[in-house]
Amino acid sequence: MQIQDSVFIITGGASGLGAATARMVAGQGGKVVLADVQAEAGAALAAELNGVFVKCDVTSEADGQAVVAAALAQGTLRGIVNCAGIAPAAKTVGKEGPHALDLFQRVVMINLVGTFNMARLAADAMSKNAALDTGERGIIINTASVAAFDGQIGQAAYASSKAAVAGLTLPMARDLSRNGIRVMTIAPGIFETPMLMGMPQEVQDALGAMVPFPPRLGKPAEYALLAKAIIENPMLNGETIRLDGAIRMQP
Ligand code: NAD
Repeated sequence: MQIQDSVFIITGGASGLGAATARMVAGQGGKVVLADVQAEAGAALAAELNGVFVKCDVTSEADGQAVVAAALAQGTLRGIVNCAGIAPAAKTVGKEGPHALDLFQRVVMINLVGTFNMARLAADAMSKNAALDTGERGIIINTASVAAFDGQIGQAAYASSKAAVAGLTLPMARDLSRNGIRVMTIAPGIFETPMLMGMPQEVQDALGAMVPFPPRLGKPAEYALLAKAIIENPMLNGETIRLDGAIRMQP
């Protein structure tokens, strides 16, 4: 799949991994449509990259449809990279009080249902594309987390939402293969993004030191580099790839 002259939707594109992916796509000559709840940062980055920003809550069908319509107005939609997500402060099961179910539902709604919502709307549109000579019509890249396999204390909601994103990958890839659409998931380890940067520096340093190699936090551009490799390689399909410097967390 070629990035140049193709349109890519990037959810969560206002910040962190999504913003880095948007820079990569624009740098390769693609057109970006950023979809995020953060209007100011999203609009500023879209303007910088000569792209489009659509204020969107990924859990809303109407918002998702508006994003796809905006993408189709730009040219041929060839891909969506789903980076929108939340990682709320850790809540230990059994200790979190009466709002536990609300929080759990919110995390699953944004991280899992939001990912599915945007992926299937983009897939419907991309299925109508003319096939490239590789047979491809489009690509979906979702974002899980190493928490999908290695959930820590307090991460019941986040880890299970991300495990479900990993679980979505293979069946969705099989469903969409007849339409020439690949589905892949990246499971990042610990990356330097606003999601993490609220932590005290010594905690960040300690987390970085836990990574076998390279012994530091991941850089958002390294996520984008893997997204690029996935987009460009038609044989990658239905897989969740850990991008984590071989970190294996202890509880
Ligand atoms: P980030 O907070 O910098 O970016 C996430 C973006 O998602 C934000 O711009 C936010 O406004 C947007 N967003 C949140 N809820 C939304 C909604 N309902 N609709 C639309 N947009 C919404 O975080 P990040 O680190 O770039 O995270 C990107 C993805 O990577 C997330 O899914 C996160 O869970 C995952 N991830 C991050 C790390 C890490 O270490 N940073 C590790 C593993 C997985």
